[in-house]
Amino acid sequence: MQTLRASKCGLSTAQLPSSILDVLDALTKAGYEAYIVGGGVRDLMLGLNPKDFDAVTNATPSQVKEVFGRRCRIIGRRFELAHVYAGRELIEVATFRAPPKKAVTSAAGMILRDNNWGTIEQDFARRDFSINALYYQPRKGIVLDFCNAVDDIKHRNLRLLGDPTLRFEEDPVRMLRTLRFAAKLNFNIDPKILKIFTPEMTQLLRDVSPHRLYDESQKLFTMGHLNKVLPMLIEFGIWRQLFADIKPDINSFIERAAKNTDQRITIGKTINPAFFYAVLLWQPFLERCDFYLSKGVVAAEARAQAGLDVLKRQATRTIIPRFAETFIREVWEMQTRLLQPKPQQIEALSGHARFRAGFDFLLLREKAGDSSTLGMGQWWDAYQLMSTDEKERAIAQYNRLRAKSRRKTAQEPVDVAPATHAADMQIEPLVNEPEPRSRRARKAKQYEENRAQLTATANGSGIGADHPILKRKRVQRDLSQVIFGPTQ
Ligand code: ATP
Ligand code: MG
Repeated sequence: MQTLRASKCGLSTAQLPSSILDVLDALTKAGYEAYIVGGGVRDLMLGLNPKDFDAVTNATPSQVKEVFGRRCRIIGRRFELAHVYAGRELIEVATFRAPPKKAVTSAAGMILRDNNWGTIEQDFARRDFSINALYYQPRKGIVLDFCNAVDDIKHRNLRLLGDPTLRFEEDPVRMLRTLRFAAKLNFNIDPKILKIFTPEMTQLLRDVSPHRLYDESQKLFTMGHLNKVLPMLIEFGIWRQLFADIKPDINSFIERAAKNTDQRITIGKTINPAFFYAVLLWQPFLERCDFYLSKGVVAAEARAQAGLDVLKRQATRTIIPRFAETFIREVWEMQTRLLQPKPQQIEALSGHARFRAGFDFLLLREKAGDSSTLGMGQWWDAYQLMSTDEKERAIAQYNRLRAKSRRKTAQEPVDVAPATHAADMQIEPLVNEPEPRSRRARKAKQYEENRAQLTATANGSGIGADHPILKRKRVQRDLSQVIFGPTQ
């Protein structure tokens, strides 16, 4: 073990936010050891801006809770740790870990629980990469290096601690972390890791919970080097494990969206990580829409069903949270609305909560060479910069073109209201609420629906059997229909 002077490693307390110093100081005052560990130390030493600072201590999570009281929450089952709120920030405080006991390992060697407390010497060996195992105590001005991590930082070497095969088997997510750090830090992956990165090894990701894989996928999407890591996901066989039905092919739309995401992160703009899922799943969504259309399902329903199906299939790999799923379906639905808006709804659409994301998506498609957007990406782009008068003229012109093209295709006549009423128009919801996930919530929903139906019939307002809505062809969704691509 080497004890290095922090100043020699280019570290000083001035680089640290008060939140992490407060947490370390409170633990030290209570008689515990406390260090900054992981990405915070690594990134500072590389001259990067750390995303966050993680702390590690010899206090158990319940002892950390005693120190911080209501500012602390103990979280995690597989990997228990304390969340401490310091001002507006949240600091993760982990406890030194010893190797896990045999009983908590799966048949494939995966660690199911890693909550065996230990010493700092045992803790460093439990960490994934050498560069993530530096312990920094800013008040003492020291960095503890147990594994020549500083050399690896100097030589930009990404090295797993211990036997790589064993470490991947213990936690297959480390494969994703390998690609993430290699792309983000521009490090060389240790040849020992490259040697074992086989399809058999990546298969192990099947045993990881789809919730955890979703979290990891979000980290990949938001690290600012998405464009670099995407080809690596294909090259190392991870893509197929993460995405159920997305072809391992980075088409120009995906590439443009990835670059755009990275650029936004570089300039400090916010991004919605679900947006990139909407991009990735767009092609499977269109194919699924075609499937329903070919079965004679009406377009709106085909889109709704296709959206649900595609997300359901993806949930077998990464479980996208409900709110994010709704966001994705709304972005897709916006594509239809933005492509052929009713003139009287144009102004209201441009103020819709999902307009920005839908428009960005449309413009990316257009710029990636998707001619089916009919130039509407640019149209909306220009529209947003117009004065009220210009907007009215643009809508009137759009209206004329629309009527003309409708006459040409000999469809039903245009039913447009004057453009001046545009702002007052209400837009119907973009997507209906999807099926609740838990059995309890589904039961409650069913109960509400039955009640509503009963009330409607009692009021004499039930829909008759000859009502056109009942003549629409409906599809019964079952799982066999949902399987529409290779499961591999
Ligand atoms: P980031 O910049 O993404 O925050 P990080 O290295 O800090 O990178 P975290 O996920 O915040 O990554 O984890 C903090 C530290 O915990 C890591 O640096 C590493 O030491 C340890 N760690 C995290 N995940 C694992 C894992 N799956 N296996 C072993 N150690 C891990
Ligand atoms: Mg971190």
